Amino acid sequence: MRRFLLPVLLVCSITASAQQLENDSLKLRQLATEVLTHSKAYEQLRVLTKQVGGRLAGSPQMAKAEQWGVKALKESGADTVYLQACQVPHWVRGAKEEVRIISRRRDFIPPLQVLALGNSVGSVPAGITAPVLEVSSFEELEAKKDQVKGKIVFYNYPFNPAFIHTFDSYGDAVRYRGRGASRAAKYGAVAIMIRSMTHGANNFPHTGAMAYNDSFPKIPAVALGLEDADLLSNRLKDESDLKIYLRTSCRMLPDTIGHNVIAEIKGTEHPEQIITVGGHLDSWDVNEGAHDDGTGCVQSIEILRAFKALGIRPKHTLRIVLFANEENGSRGGKKYAEVAKAANEQHIFALESDAGGFTPRGFSFTMPQEKREKIKSWAPLFLPYDVYDFSSEGGGVDVGELHEATGVAMGELLPDSQRYFDLHHAVNDVFSAVNKRELELGAFSMAALIYLVDKYGL
Ligand SMILES: [Zn+2]
Repeated sequence: MRRFLLPVLLVCSITASAQQLENDSLKLRQLATEVLTHSKAYEQLRVLTKQVGGRLAGSPQMAKAEQWGVKALKESGADTVYLQACQVPHWVRGAKEEVRIISRRRDFIPPLQVLALGNSVGSVPAGITAPVLEVSSFEELEAKKDQVKGKIVFYNYPFNPAFIHTFDSYGDAVRYRGRGASRAAKYGAVAIMIRSMTHGANNFPHTGAMAYNDSFPKIPAVALGLEDADLLSNRLKDESDLKIYLRTSCRMLPDTIGHNVIAEIKGTEHPEQIITVGGHLDSWDVNEGAHDDGTGCVQSIEILRAFKALGIRPKHTLRIVLFANEENGSRGGKKYAEVAKAANEQHIFALESDAGGFTPRGFSFTMPQEKREKIKSWAPLFLPYDVYDFSSEGGGVDVGELHEATGVAMGELLPDSQRYFDLHHAVNDVFSAVNKRELELGAFSMAALIYLVDKYGL
């Protein structure tokens, strides 16, 4: 009889796993139907973007957004909702930036489309008038360092269009925004201008955070729209001694208090083990913070609502976090990580959505190989929803802080990236740029992944 044991067991285990696969597949179908037919995400996003609007850390709009978050989380069925205070930077843009080409040809050139970079100092009280040194890279800056003194350095480094995933183009170019000012100030530059971090076919300037190296003078920094970056570059070719008038009134005020907005459903079997899901509530001041990152917030909240609606009580404690300050300081993520670490909390997984509310393609992860293999074994369950990429490396900035502090396995929703940088940190990141179904499919994908991580552990 013994010789029959193995085949019988094998058949049993195949049947069991086939059964399991079918159960999970039915549960995911229920989740998808629930989200696609009853989601509150799009309406919640409408309120956040239209009634609160742009919400930079430290701004009155951000305080309003926190209240919005508390209400939305309570309505979605959380056991508890609370605020976690943290120090946040308080940068203000001030009056509209003004940047003009001063040409000896005296022809009319409209003011250039610019935005001051976040955290930048302003030029006030007076504007700055200076000649321009255009460089295409830090290497060229080093080669021309003797020509930098007294000039406005113009970093005209294009987004590389050859990358398929646009976050690679961003990762490649963003150093000019982040560190360009101090690199130029080191050699005596009086201000910098950068080509915006985009390959969008428009002239919208794209702001974003920069940081100073304290060893060098702090000089103003602005981003130019692409058409104006090209215009300036072309003018410089036959008028290299033209000047730029630049006036910005932005400034950094003392740190102030912001809050992570946190909601919990207590786990039924392992309440001490936590799964964190979130997005960042803050946004740039010049837009509605729709894709960045209103969509991540409402998708995270939707997981709670859908679980509640389907009677799913997670075994692990599920925590939804709307982070206080990602854009110009990551202080929300840092605070959350610091508190989690100090309390010795046991986190099993942290998921973020901060890459836009576009059609989901999969998830990026940073975790040990065996955990990734476990997640990959669920890939067939996602295929009916056109969600297939489980191989990319990544994780969001906010949960990245928790990963850094505790080593927790982390992931990020991976939406189609082709249109994200058309509007990232620019005036056109508004509610109408979000597609309801794409947003909901992202929310469903996150809910499905969280359901499986909760059911099987990680
Ligand atoms: Zn973001």
